[in-house]
Amino acid sequence: MLSAIFNALATNQSEQLFTMNGKTRGLPRNQQTAVDDLCKEVDGWIKTTGVKYFDPLTNMAMLAEEVGEVARIMARRYGQQSEKASDRGKDLGEELSDVLFVVLCLANQTGTDLQRAWREKMLKKTARDAKRHRRNPKLK
Ligand SMILES: [Mg+2]
Repeated sequence: MLSAIFNALATNQSEQLFTMNGKTRGLPRNQQTAVDDLCKEVDGWIKTTGVKYFDPLTNMAMLAEEVGEVARIMARRYGQQSEKASDRGKDLGEELSDVLFVVLCLANQTGTDLQRAWREKMLKKTARDAKRHRRNPKLK
């Protein structure tokens, strides 16, 4: 079973469309963007528009800052904090994209193969959690 999952991930044959909250999400296979493609897109942008990468420690601080912006939206829109009028226009997708952008920068500038790491992580999680979450009574 694991080899089938690995092959599907390695060859990008897995169907990426899924349904969440009654809406179909994801992209058709021919429009999917692999992690490698995202890393290359960010690297190209940095070299042409961003001039150069901020140093890794600056980007680490920026990652914390962007995660904080996501946390603010989550606490106020989905959590119990009241949402101020000035928070209502904030876009969760934009803030999650800010987090992803900095993560991709950190991967690029540290020589991390994030595509490979992602595949390995998903395989590890799939093997480790094959029955774990189905057995969790809190998820029923
Ligand atoms: Mg932001």
